[in-house]
Amino acid sequence: MSELAGVPKPEELLKIDYQPPRKGWMDTPVNFKPGTYCYPAASKNHKILDLPFPREWSPTEKDWKLPENWKEIVLNGIAERLSKYRSFKVFMDICVRCGACADKCHFFLGSGDPKNMPVLRAELLRSIYRKEFTAAGKVLGKLAGARELTPAVIKEWFYYFYQCTECRRCSVFCPYGIDTAEITMIGRELLYLLGLGINWALEPAAKCFMTGNHLGIQPHTLKDTLDFFADDLEDITGVRVDIPINKKGADILFVTPSGDYFADPGTYTCMGYLALFHELGLNYTWSTYASEGGNFGLFTSHEMIKRLNAKIYAEAKRLGVKWILGGECGHMWRVIHQYMDTMNGPADFLEEPVSPITGTKFENAKATKMVHIMEFTADLIKHNKLKLDPSRNDKLKVTFHDSCNPARAMGIFEEPRYVIKNVCKHFYDMPENTIKEKTFCCAGGAGLGNDENMEMRLRGGLPRGNAVKYVQEKHKVNRLACMCAIDRATLVPLCDYWAPGVQVTGIHEMLANALVMKGEKERETDLRGEPLKEVEE
Ligand code: SF4
Ligand code: SF4
Repeated sequence: MSELAGVPKPEELLKIDYQPPRKGWMDTPVNFKPGTYCYPAASKNHKILDLPFPREWSPTEKDWKLPENWKEIVLNGIAERLSKYRSFKVFMDICVRCGACADKCHFFLGSGDPKNMPVLRAELLRSIYRKEFTAAGKVLGKLAGARELTPAVIKEWFYYFYQCTECRRCSVFCPYGIDTAEITMIGRELLYLLGLGINWALEPAAKCFMTGNHLGIQPHTLKDTLDFFADDLEDITGVRVDIPINKKGADILFVTPSGDYFADPGTYTCMGYLALFHELGLNYTWSTYASEGGNFGLFTSHEMIKRLNAKIYAEAKRLGVKWILGGECGHMWRVIHQYMDTMNGPADFLEEPVSPITGTKFENAKATKMVHIMEFTADLIKHNKLKLDPSRNDKLKVTFHDSCNPARAMGIFEEPRYVIKNVCKHFYDMPENTIKEKTFCCAGGAGLGNDENMEMRLRGGLPRGNAVKYVQEKHKVNRLACMCAIDRATLVPLCDYWAPGVQVTGIHEMLANALVMKGEKERETDLRGEPLKEVEE
């Protein structure tokens, strides 16, 4: 919100200068302005993850203490990735600079900085590729869009590859399907070769290695936390839910982001899962080892994605479950749908997922053996397996934010809307060009959801905030629903700043409010402990 430390008021941030600098982009150096860049990863986290060149350094200092042979490391890194990832080579070669993607990035729209145009973000790396790996670039240099690799280029990469949330909105509009997020991922990998990571991406990954989840929550704390939720649910519903943990031989392993059991409003979504599973009598289990659905490897390197994803499947094997059910997460689903099968699959030791309640076969999860909870719940509702009273959510006027990864990596648009419309009566979509595959990012994903970067988050959050404000003014919307733990954290300050009065909610929170449970007492409050009905003024 406007009182956020160091962040200008909204009316100031709205004065966006779209006038490009007088000099060409190659001659415009990067400016590390406080509030617009991420802090470097602590050397301890580099060490835990066995990453090269751990050291303390600062982006605002002139000397980044690069290793002596830094240039050779980067060029070898590019060469290795060109031979390994055909998509990278294609993306380096085929851009025709048509500009269709230029105004599609929320960071460009909110900052006016031309280097936040996806096409130019990619050029930051492509210009080096041309210089070192193409004949035209070697001979014609700048005329062919090529430039020398210098420490200033590395600084530019650090700034702008950490001003991309890997949301892939730009790729929807590119006639060639160039995926700038993949270029950002390679750019970040190259930076990691030089020991240049950001802490908000690396610390969660390091904690995941040590405790099984991004937040470093120990097994006994997870158990205590879930027990607290059971206590709260009992107070609200009169029903005591069972919470199986590390149960061998359960049918289903349930995995969700740690944000769901760590902080509000995710905690209410977590209570929603517990109520639903209890009501169904589901033979499932939590795991204290695979206690994280999210995968901050996606924001670090392909190798890290693979290592973090592997534990979910190792745990499914150890517990002997049939298949895996995944909670309301965003990037977990990109990892599962786009990388899992080639990285750690095929998961042939698991069964093809079938709902034990409806008998539905989840064909789309045939390879990964992992089902999205929104598909699972939508299927339950479609088969009339849940008793729902949507009037309990009458005070809510709801809109839905399609999280970038489930939307663009899975195409899961209708299931969440179907569930929401069955659990509450007032639903209003935001304008067409801001939802579904064209959804605007929360601007805090991919490791950028930290406080030091708040001004850039709120700038990048402007297009989403604008769309929320539109339905707030038009339909009196007061809840922004989403199915991603990062969104549940990052959309809160975004709404406070751009659309004050709109609160953020997970979908299973609303579902559990509407769920009529066997043996429940008359409900007086919702899961937040607030009166079910709006109190008349
Ligand atoms: S839309 Fe595609 S081809 Fe056109 S400039 Fe952007 S990345 Fe290049
Ligand atoms: S992936 Fe998203 S954040 Fe990155 S350049 Fe494209 S639109 Fe911008």
